[in-house]
Amino acid sequence: MRIIRPSRLNHYGGGLLERAAHLRADTNWLDAALVSPVSRFVPFWRGKALLTPGEVPRAVLLPKPPQHGPWVFLGLVEGAPIFALDVSTPEEPPAFGVGEFVDLRAMTALLPPLDAEILATARGMLHWRATHKYCPACGGATAPVRGGWVLHCENCGRENFPRTDAAVIMLVTRGGKLLLGQSHRFPPERNFYSTLAGFVEPGESLEDAVRREVLEEVGVRVGEVVYHSSQPWPFPASLMLGFYAEGLSDEIVLEVEEMRDARWFTREEIANRKALGFNLPPNDSIARRLIDDWLSAE
Ligand SMILES: [Zn+2]
Repeated sequence: MRIIRPSRLNHYGGGLLERAAHLRADTNWLDAALVSPVSRFVPFWRGKALLTPGEVPRAVLLPKPPQHGPWVFLGLVEGAPIFALDVSTPEEPPAFGVGEFVDLRAMTALLPPLDAEILATARGMLHWRATHKYCPACGGATAPVRGGWVLHCENCGRENFPRTDAAVIMLVTRGGKLLLGQSHRFPPERNFYSTLAGFVEPGESLEDAVRREVLEEVGVRVGEVVYHSSQPWPFPASLMLGFYAEGLSDEIVLEVEEMRDARWFTREEIANRKALGFNLPPNDSIARRLIDDWLSAE
């Protein structure tokens, strides 16, 4: 198989946020940063980000927040400390006089890369914090340390670190055709066909996970597996690892519990998808990048 390199940055990634991990343990510095007029706070209400709408939406970075909640030191932007702030307590989204709380996953417009990376990091960290209030080893209460990046168990002393679940996502191709499927998780009204994907299991390499998932979901055997790129996907805690996979068999045997449909598509069918009445996955997804990069490389 050809090596197909990513044509551009995957959304939510890029390494533009200076994470400044060396400052996380400096409690004096953090105490000062939390009240500094140059610091900025990224509020999340129940998983939703505060954005200013528009053709290119922007993350709202608040100066000194009017309310307190769990926070995480995300890093520095041009020297200014940036904090994620969980404002989920009230039943209704709090009003900050600017922007509105939006579900990132439902957005169609793309955020600027730095804004996207800040929000992805904030969303992932705040979700982890909200779902790990108790130690998985002993059930004791945990307390945040190191800028919110470690949850320390107050009972057994265990240090709990943020979770990222590895998921493989793969475009299976065979003789100029692409294998795309529709999971029951996709909204049926959007009728989109996407690459297959699944979580990596313990004791499994990424390549093994690609082969197992494709066989399980559509019954197709896979040969060569070639890496393309990765994408943070904090919905709620995944890292998507993108691959091209060479299909070795044609017949599709659908795993009906998981998949609504799966088909081999020709390049022409993809190009004529509007007329044929189906869609591809959204522009912010690595699934779409795998498909677009393959179509433009052949
Ligand atoms: Zn414990």
